[in-house]
Amino acid sequence: EKTERLDKVLSMAGYGSRKDVKKIIKRGEVEVNGRVVTDAGTPVAPAVDSISVSGELLIFKEHIYIMMNKPQGVISATHDRRETTVIDLLEDEFSHRNLFPVGRLDKDAEGLLLLTDDGQLAHRLLSPRKKVEKVYYVEVKGRLVEEDVKAFKEGVFLGDYRALPAKLEILEAGEVSSALVTIYEGKFHQIKRMMKARGKEVTYLKRLSMGPLKLDENLEPGEWRELTDEEIRILT
Ligand code: URA
Repeated sequence: EKTERLDKVLSMAGYGSRKDVKKIIKRGEVEVNGRVVTDAGTPVAPAVDSISVSGELLIFKEHIYIMMNKPQGVISATHDRRETTVIDLLEDEFSHRNLFPVGRLDKDAEGLLLLTDDGQLAHRLLSPRKKVEKVYYVEVKGRLVEEDVKAFKEGVFLGDYRALPAKLEILEAGEVSSALVTIYEGKFHQIKRMMKARGKEVTYLKRLSMGPLKLDENLEPGEWRELTDEEIRILT
């Protein structure tokens, strides 16, 4: 069984930085298999050893899954020198996990973004071969018409590439229109480019779902929560 230093394990479990955790261990608050351990470097197997902090048993999670309602103005990256990233919006509790966003939303787009350290799941959700369904709510300048619905269904030509057939469901048609768009791929600026090819300019874009995972409507832009066990189950 794979072992890690005790301080690293506690830090990853959310008990603070390595420095914080070393203090907790020094104070004699940590037990491994029922014995107080004061050496922060003690090797432990998180999946096997029973570890407790101040009497509270540590439940080790192999992976973390977070649903965020990405706000506008924040970029879908892990680090950036100038811009605020979606990772910056999380609490320090997760700073020792290598969380990354599964796919990208444009800086000016909102909505469902999954953050995880589960590389296999990310790969499955992003693999073009899997054709994972993504649903967006879109507002555009211009009147959406049945011709647009047909064009989306046939696959909009984007200059160098024909988009896969997509679903366009018009909600409101006027000088400004709104719609639900379902796509099965995730090319750069895909929906903006599809709309542009139809003579419309996207003014608002919000992702509502990705595969079976739906954005929790209780999350305001910028808010996030861990996935429920049920959500993890349907995704993995
Ligand atoms: N399509 C876009 O144009 N932008 C996104 O962020 C997602 C889909």
